Formats: sequence, C-alpha cells, structure tokens
Amino acid sequence: MAKSEKEKYWTPIIETMPRKEIEELQTKKLIHAVNYAYSNAEHYKKSFKEAGIKPEDVKTIDDFNKLPILYKDEIRERLQQTGDPFGGLLAIDFGEKILNIAASTGTTGVPTVYAYSWHDRQISSEQDSRLKWMKGYRPGDVFFMVGPRWHAYASQLFYAMDAMGLTVLIDCGYPLPFISKKHVMTMKTLKPNVYASPNISLYSIIEAAKSMNEDPRDVFSCCKLIDAGYGDVLTTAVRKRIEKETGIASENIFDSGGIAEPLWYYGDCEFHVGNHCLDDLFYTNVCDLETREPLAKGEKGECVITNLFSESLPIIRWGTEDMTIQDLEKCNCGRTHSRWTLLGRDAFATNIKGTKTFPTEIENALGDIPGFTEYFTILKYKKGPMEILKMKLAVDQTKIKDQEKFVKEVKSALKEKMGVESEIEVVKTIADLPFVGHKVIKVLDLTKEAE
Ligand SMILES: [Zn+2]
Repeated sequence: MAKSEKEKYWTPIIETMPRKEIEELQTKKLIHAVNYAYSNAEHYKKSFKEAGIKPEDVKTIDDFNKLPILYKDEIRERLQQTGDPFGGLLAIDFGEKILNIAASTGTTGVPTVYAYSWHDRQISSEQDSRLKWMKGYRPGDVFFMVGPRWHAYASQLFYAMDAMGLTVLIDCGYPLPFISKKHVMTMKTLKPNVYASPNISLYSIIEAAKSMNEDPRDVFSCCKLIDAGYGDVLTTAVRKRIEKETGIASENIFDSGGIAEPLWYYGDCEFHVGNHCLDDLFYTNVCDLETREPLAKGEKGECVITNLFSESLPIIRWGTEDMTIQDLEKCNCGRTHSRWTLLGRDAFATNIKGTKTFPTEIENALGDIPGFTEYFTILKYKKGPMEILKMKLAVDQTKIKDQEKFVKEVKSALKEKMGVESEIEVVKTIADLPFVGHKVIKVLDLTKEAE
C-alpha cells in the first residue's frame, strides 16, 4: 500500500479487507458474543432458552440469524417487572467495571439505560477515529463540537479526538439564542476548521449570526468541513440548505449518526453514497419488520444490529425499528464495509391512502422551496390509512414574503412529487413544535390522546 493510500485510512488493512475475510471475522466474533451474552446476562439465558437455541448451536451466520430479535420494549417490560434498569442485559459487576451510565434520548418512548466499561469506550472511540478520519479530520485540526454534552456519545467522541491529536474547543452545547451568539464569537476569534453539531445547533448559530449583523458565510469561512446530522437524517435538501447558508460546499458537508444502545455509529465518506459502518465491530443485517426474516441484498427493511465487542451490555440482534437499505458493494473510497441508507423510523412512517410515507421523503420533496426547514411534525389524526397528510411546519420567516403563496407551493409539491393531498399549518418557531428530549417529534399520535 502506497504512503498516500495509507493516509486515506485510520486503519488501512481493516477498512479495506475483502468481504469474505470480514464475514469470517464476523462469524468468529459472533460465536464469542453469543457465548459471552448467554453466560453473563440474564436476559439472553432466558430468551435463548425460549427460542430453543443453545449457544453451541450457533456455528454460522445463518444459525445466528435464528436467534430472537431484541426490542426496547422487552427491556422496558423487564424494568417494570424487576426494577432492573438494564433489563437483564448487564454482564459485568455494577460499580466495579462500569465507567459511564447513560440513558437514550427516548425518541420512541421511555428512555433505556446503557453502560460503557473502559474496554467498551476504547473500542467505541476507535470507531469514531476511523469515521472522523474518513471525513478528513486530521491531527492539528481545531475541532468545535456544538452538541449535547450530556449524551454518552460525547465521552467516546472526545476520547477519539484526543487519540487523533486534534485541538478541541470546549463550550456549552445548547442551541439557545444567547449561547449561540457566544458560539458565533468563538468561531470568529478561535477559527475552528472542523465544525460538528446536530442540525438544530448549526441553524441556531446561523440565526444568531444574522441577528448580530454577521454574515454566516464569514463566520463559517474558517471551516474546511461541517459534520452534521447527529440525530436527524441529512437529506440532499438539508445538505443544499446548509451549503447555501454557510458557504461550505456540499461535498464538504458530512452526515453523522448512530444508535446509542448498541454503540453503533456511522458516517459518510467524500463520495456521500450511504453511511459507512464498521463491520469488524458490528454484524448488521436487514430483516422484514413483520416476519423478522433476513431480507435479500438491497431490499428495504429493518436494520438489526449486533455489537461484537461490548463487555458491559452485550447487544445481540437489536431491532432498531429503523427502515434502511444495506449496500455491501465496495465503495469508491476503497472501503469494503457495509454502507447504509437510512429512511427513518418505521414508527415515523405515515400511512396515506395505504402508502408508507417517510419524513425524509417529505424533506426531499420540499427541500427546494425557499423558507422550508426540516423541522415539522406530522399529525396522525386517525388509526390506519389517512386520506390527507396533515403537518405543522416551522419555517424560515426571513425567506418567506407571502405565507399563503408558500403554503400553496408546499401543497402542490406534495401533490406533484408524492401524490398526496395535504393540510399545512405554519408555526412561528421550532419551539412551537412538540419536542421529545432535544428532538422535534416527527409524528404526533393524536389517536393516543383521544383514547
Ligand atoms: Zn466510501
């Protein structure tokens, strides 16, 4: 491997391994993970027995896929029955080896609790070093992360930044107007060249800059890249909007995200063709949401994740309820690990006249309309298929001269691009939308309130 090739990757040999070797490695690690989980975590002892499978029965990936899929609700149920906050998943001594304990955001219900040991954080950080290196983070860069520091992900991310030799700007992460003004000053005076945050924090800085009579393009001119997403899907429409506002070219705007419980994180490379995941650390496949059977290559289904290294909380076949498409072809960047296109939570899909509609599809349909932002809430006003799509939109008022005309444009784009009739309510700010944690509720189920 030439020197320049080596510099493309954090761990060149692993990241460019032939698929066959990745699968052999995954099989070995899966067998170990199954035995470890069964021997150490109460939940798996019970669930494997109920499925009639002994750890020694698992010798291949096909055998492994016969194990039951684990859903968050089972952990919540066990929490209620036994009071065990980890729902029977904890495999090490509480208090002795656990480094951090955290709760998930609670996007789909009661937050679940998960833990890191020292070993878990080391490997999770390795995951971040690889993903961030792929995006162009390099030693000596000045990194500014404006995000929720209370999320356990921050622990592994900052550890990775230290390992990679970046200078980290420490600041409060809340996207509140007065704090965002301070962030504008930080950007102007300390000039970070790598900026990372959830989209909501990025927009808050852009708005703060405008309110200070600063051009957001000048504020972001010190950056070589923006790393966004972190909880929201970075659609083409959103990428274009960020480019327009900050002046950073689309190809230098990257996507980041993940799922907290299995410690599974992902990101895109310079080709932006799906999100890369690390297959030597996770075994991930796509299953039918109804039958729970593995699906063929390229089919749309639920992403099911197994963590291959976790010591504290073994995660075997975690049902994410996220609809995805997996791509196992080698990427143009030379990486051979799987790439994922995320469509969104199945819980966020809305049934309009029998057709499943995802918020990401709405974002792409409306992305070119001036004033549209990806902050909206779909109203589920009846059980089963709905006749029309009802939604509340938080818009960028500075870009809308005539609100009636804007609503008309939105309705006709939804009709033309997605074939749906709609009822649109425009709200003044993002704060007028319903929230769960730091995220806007994508689909508000009004049928539950009516019960
Ligand atoms: Zn790639």
